[in-house]
Amino acid sequence: MIETKEQLQDLIQKLEEKISPIFLEIEKQCRKNSEKVLSAFQKHKITEAHFGSTSGYGYSDFGRDTLEKVFAEVLGAEDALVRAQMISGSHALTVTLFALLRPDDTLLSITGKPYDTLEEVIGITENKSSLRSFGVHYEQIDLVNNDFDYDKIEKVLKGKKIKVIEIQRSKGYSTRKSITINQIEKIIKFIKNIDSNVIIMVDNCYCEMVSEKEPTELGADIMVGSLIKNLGGGIAPNGAYIAGKKELIELCAERLTLPGEGREVGPTLGINKSLYQGLFFAPSVVASSLKTAVFTSALLEELGYQVEPKWNDARADVVANIVFNNAEDLIKYCQGIQIGSPIDSNAIPEPWDMPGYQDKVIMAAGAFTQGSSIELSCDGPIREPFIAYQQGGLTYEYGKLGVIKAVERLLNLK
Ligand SMILES: *Cc1c(COP(=O)(O)O)cnc(C)c1O
Repeated sequence: MIETKEQLQDLIQKLEEKISPIFLEIEKQCRKNSEKVLSAFQKHKITEAHFGSTSGYGYSDFGRDTLEKVFAEVLGAEDALVRAQMISGSHALTVTLFALLRPDDTLLSITGKPYDTLEEVIGITENKSSLRSFGVHYEQIDLVNNDFDYDKIEKVLKGKKIKVIEIQRSKGYSTRKSITINQIEKIIKFIKNIDSNVIIMVDNCYCEMVSEKEPTELGADIMVGSLIKNLGGGIAPNGAYIAGKKELIELCAERLTLPGEGREVGPTLGINKSLYQGLFFAPSVVASSLKTAVFTSALLEELGYQVEPKWNDARADVVANIVFNNAEDLIKYCQGIQIGSPIDSNAIPEPWDMPGYQDKVIMAAGAFTQGSSIELSCDGPIREPFIAYQQGGLTYEYGKLGVIKAVERLLNLK
């Protein structure tokens, strides 16, 4: 039993020794990703001129256009769209779905129910502007034992024409495990063997640079993520990316702006340098987040809580889950994360009705950028089994300090 802050410190010292081999692996991964990023910057001959900016229509923004080439290079994709005009990951997913699907087409999710905010986008929850309202059909196949249901997927693909398959790598607010890159590689091969024309779209939020490869390097047609998560490196002030096949990126650009202007417009209003710098920092920031997640899993498990993944499990994303089984502990833990944050540390978060979510959600994010979840943040819907979803940590030290504050509040340590 831990009853004092001193006892907690002693325990942490022991745990840090135990988890140090995992940290070495994370650092190795960070080096590989840093090499990828550095060589993409060098190949595209980035200079100060790329940090220039446009206003108004944003024609001929050479910094923006080159940044998109650098992103494509790093992600092993033909092309990419990297824009501040995409408000969030959910917006980028919405742009992609509306760009790819036409009336009477079918969207198939093979990772069960998609991320909460997509329910109204797809029309699983009624909305007058959903894909469903335009006559787009939706089907889903649930995971079985945290893996794809290969038999069902084969049956559906052989039975009817599917336009887009959505794979969500990170678990979102579900109780399943996140999908590993090996699972992604295997399912892509399987699907393309049955129907090489189906468009495989991956929701890659929270997963970039966690593994050796990205889905677009393994045959995914298109992939989406947020810049206030992994690839923004904690520096991008907002925005999202879409990467993939050239002709699909073209469709997304024309949906994001307008048919006929596509990617040619979109002012950068002074943020090009931040987006370059964010990508440059992303490998280390992802590594810090992973270390914070490993530390959290080790500590909370030691304190008797159920965690997912375990400290020594292979990770697919930067998220650490703690199952609290009651609302009070979930709320206390999230409040502790807020208290341990650099910004708004004196605010006490409470559960609220967030737009786009069906349950009340508590969100701790004492972040430099509003809602940034590559900065240490913790949130969870107020529903059974009361899971905290913690992610981020711009540096490991700050991540660890925040987690210690959260545990102190959870256990009422003096
Ligand atoms: C974060 C996230 C999104 C997008 O969230 P935004 O807050 O809109 O950027 C989508 N899918 C998953 C799995 C996520 O984790």
